[in-house]
Amino acid sequence: MGFDTSGLLPLSDALQGMLEQLACCCDCEQLPLPEALGRVLASDIASPLAVPPFDNSAMDGYAVRLADLASGTPLIMAGKAFAGQPYQGEWPAGHCVRIMTGAPVPAGTDAVVMQEETQADGDRITFLAQPEPGQNIRRAGSDIGNGACVLQAGTRLTPREMPLLASLGVATVAVRRPLKVAIFSTGDELKPVGTPLAHGDIYDSNRYGVRAMLTRMGCDCLDLGIIPDDPAQLRAAFIRADKEADVLITTGGVSVGEADFTKLLLDELGEIGFWKLAIKPGKPFAFGRLPRAWFFGLPGNPVSAMVTFDQLVQPALAKLAGQHFERPLQLQAIAAEPLKKSPGRLDFQRGILSQGPNGLEVRSTGSQDSAVFSSLSRANCYIVLERERGRVAAGETVTVEPFGGLLL
Ligand code: AMP
Ligand code: MG
Repeated sequence: MGFDTSGLLPLSDALQGMLEQLACCCDCEQLPLPEALGRVLASDIASPLAVPPFDNSAMDGYAVRLADLASGTPLIMAGKAFAGQPYQGEWPAGHCVRIMTGAPVPAGTDAVVMQEETQADGDRITFLAQPEPGQNIRRAGSDIGNGACVLQAGTRLTPREMPLLASLGVATVAVRRPLKVAIFSTGDELKPVGTPLAHGDIYDSNRYGVRAMLTRMGCDCLDLGIIPDDPAQLRAAFIRADKEADVLITTGGVSVGEADFTKLLLDELGEIGFWKLAIKPGKPFAFGRLPRAWFFGLPGNPVSAMVTFDQLVQPALAKLAGQHFERPLQLQAIAAEPLKKSPGRLDFQRGILSQGPNGLEVRSTGSQDSAVFSSLSRANCYIVLERERGRVAAGETVTVEPFGGLLL
């Protein structure tokens, strides 16, 4: 695919190389608002109205005209305004209007005085403080102006957007159909959970991790199970996935030891690059095109599979799904203990970030072997150690990336 596979490929180059080739492949459909949760907006949403739609009270209290307060004498209550029941009577000079939170302020109101700053004696209201003009009035359009762009195409709808869209009266939204992703695990040693293990077997764990991450991303998953290291069965699985899905993600079989026939098969079926990434964990990685579908070949080691998915595949799938994607914030923290590291690859060590007496501090979760899954499950962040950096002493500053939505 035009990449140098002789040396180790920096993560940023791999990511850029992939993203340049990818474009959104998901059509648009209209969905009722509640069903659109987790979907990606296909177009910008401009507000069809002002929010709030009318000037209203931010407090329970009294609507007043400042001129009426100038004399300091109590005002007579002319009537009441409730949320949903505007005050529609006369408002003679020397009068105020009792008003509740959310009620439209009567025409001519200069301010709302909160109840706690008044004294009522029957209908005679004494004002204990002089309000500022506009005090406790929420102005029409002060949150969102009529016609303003409130959400951009590419936004994935979370519970935070639902009430926002409802407040605009949006009943249906244009969203992208979910990206369809086929997955399978490769390896003669793999058995599905719920079956006994023979000597030399292990449970297929990667498929559960990949599937869970796809679910978090809102993708439709076509799970093709475990495919043995057998060219005929692999070929059939590649062809089926290519027919039925937008993307195929496999784990295992892309490292040097056993990649030969996978590589031959993929060369025959499509145009796939086998990369050695300059990251740890996760060196072997394959990316390219089958006749219809995009292909991502993740390393077999469970931690490598998760980390390469999170760091590389996630942004690529987001682009295919039409979703705007940003990595979680990276922060600086103090290494609370020494961290093993040799120069040459960008390390995504698994760490536990906590608040220490002098700011954020981070510890390793222990063995960073890419087969040790507990290192990931106990962690709450990556410790991102630069490619040329060596061993880290306790007290040094390191970059950490708290896990984002995919791993939480
Ligand atoms: P491979 O990339 O196929 O050479 O696999 C590298 C290592 O990861 C081997 O120890 C495999 O047994 C292990 N492995 C591969 N696929 C999986 C999987 N789906 N679940 C758990 N371990 C796996
Ligand atoms: Mg294998």
